[in-house]
Amino acid sequence: MPNVSGHTELVGLMAYPIRHTQSPTTHNWAYDKLGCDVIQLAFEVDNDTLKDSVQAIRSLKMLGSNISMPNKTVVHQYLDEVDPAAQLCGAINTVVNVRDEKGEVSGYLKGYNTDGAGFWQAVKEDGIDFAGMKMVLIGTGGAATAIAAVGAIDGIAEMHIFNIKDKFYGRGEEMCEKINAQTSCKAYMHDLADKDLLKQLMAEADLFCDATGVGMHPLEDLSNIPDPSFFRPDLIVCDTVYAPRETVMMKQAREAGCTKVYNGLGMMLFQALIAIEKYTLKEITPELITYMKGQLGI
Ligand code: NAD
Repeated sequence: MPNVSGHTELVGLMAYPIRHTQSPTTHNWAYDKLGCDVIQLAFEVDNDTLKDSVQAIRSLKMLGSNISMPNKTVVHQYLDEVDPAAQLCGAINTVVNVRDEKGEVSGYLKGYNTDGAGFWQAVKEDGIDFAGMKMVLIGTGGAATAIAAVGAIDGIAEMHIFNIKDKFYGRGEEMCEKINAQTSCKAYMHDLADKDLLKQLMAEADLFCDATGVGMHPLEDLSNIPDPSFFRPDLIVCDTVYAPRETVMMKQAREAGCTKVYNGLGMMLFQALIAIEKYTLKEITPELITYMKGQLGI
């Protein structure tokens, strides 16, 4: 329990619904461990109250705020600057009240998306250098586009994105256009119904990620991959789902002999730590990472 005083600084979390969130628990473990007199609190904020709530970051001199649905794709209009990766994926999950030269919050608000950076940081933490890699990604929702944006900016050479032909498909096509225009990564959009093409491209890929909700309740008994023969033992396999900790897709990959198989817990941890580093300007040390993994049971 943090020792709250008149000096304690505030980080927000603005979303609706939000009462189920794990975020304040995770953030407050980290602030405590870092010795920061900072607390995160969750606020029920929807699109109607977002403008005033963002203004409160300035007026209350908050360090910033995490942003979640339904605000991620609309908050940019109330900010002073948006980071390039957040611009590319069109969503912001972290608003930082930028410090001035004296180290005090300035009221100048900058938006970031730490979901994508968190995913790739978790991959890097395991010693994987993904620069130049060929990737197959399933999904074109919030998690997938954040992963695609940062991967494309940070050096993935070729990205094949698959999705079902639902309302998210067009978003994937737009994402590929933007990646091809703004980065050196070559991005292609495909229909997830084409399982022959999926199998062929997975056989040629270095890294595979499923960033849909398939594998998670209520789709916990399903996988987007028809059978284990789609996986090569040396393919790096990632799922963004963290509950359950092992999805049907991850089981299929392990059955095929894959050894580098990851759930979404690393992404969840590092998206939080990257935001915490931006709010507090404290370095994320290996000791903090180990402590947080222990707290989260990773
Ligand atoms: P979203 O609603 O924005 O996108 C959902 C995606 O899943 C879309 O691409 C959609 O087309 C696809 N999809 C939905 N039903 C499908 C089905 N039956 N078959 C195939 N594809 C289907 O959701 P999101 O926010 O991008 O979340 C996606 C997943 O990523 C969820 O499991 C979520 O828990 C996880 N996630 C994890 C983290 C983390 O930190 N690990 C962060 C964000 C999201």
